[in-house]
Amino acid sequence: MLEMKKLKKSFGDIEVLRDIDLRLEKGKVLVIVGPSGSGKTTLLRCINLLETPTEGEMTVGDLQLTFSPGTKLRKIDILELRQRTGMVFQSYNLFPHRTAVENVMEGLITVKKADKHESRSLAMEMLRKVGLEEKAEAYPYQLSGGQQQRVGIARAIAMDPDLLLFDEPTSALDPELVGEVLNVMKALAAEGRTMVVVTHEMKFAADVADTVVFMDNGRIVERGTPDEVFRQSANERTKAFLSRVS
Ligand code: ATP
Repeated sequence: MLEMKKLKKSFGDIEVLRDIDLRLEKGKVLVIVGPSGSGKTTLLRCINLLETPTEGEMTVGDLQLTFSPGTKLRKIDILELRQRTGMVFQSYNLFPHRTAVENVMEGLITVKKADKHESRSLAMEMLRKVGLEEKAEAYPYQLSGGQQQRVGIARAIAMDPDLLLFDEPTSALDPELVGEVLNVMKALAAEGRTMVVVTHEMKFAADVADTVVFMDNGRIVERGTPDEVFRQSANERTKAFLSRVS
């Protein structure tokens, strides 16, 4: 489903991703952990080309892309990739003047060109899935952070993407609201969705990940099952990080 080979990303002279090799099979959950500034968000944003990798190769489904400095990406590849991936952002990114259901419908109408009636009924189904059917007509400011994030998730799954990307989806939330969002994500994982999740929630990672990747300074320094990375790691950097966060 997703493969990266020797992927690099630089911002000017700063190398943010160095030789990333990664593979994720359909239906599996990959969780990326690591210290602040290690490149986790940049890696996630490269998957849907919100950032353009500087070098390397990436495959998403049957779409294969090769990057080299100065190469301009084709618009059609970007569009294709955006249709295959759904992103959930730390800051929800909902339209403030649209209701919950209108936020979920937006992509269906503008990108998928679905008709309004059909879009509304699918959006309602998605809101039901995240437990927010009764908030369909509420505006973002009338919702808690956890509810706004669940609308963000409903919006992402409404597009039926092959791959769901989560960028620290709970880190802007008050602690008591984190659980409701993680529970929705757990349910999606249990449904067999393919997911890449950047998070600091180690318990979630331990419970849900098939593979955990630990990043430091732009590199993947360790990967394995949650048990291998969280409990059996012999890597000093991983151990030091885990002792700080848990
Ligand atoms: P955090 O956990 O704090 O969100 P992260 O592991 O997700 O961190 P990134 O946000 O990917 O890390 O950032 C990695 C490095 O890339 C940082 O040093 C950051 O300052 C730099 N960086 C990210 N985006 C840009 C940009 N658009 N221009 C220049 N530097 C950037």
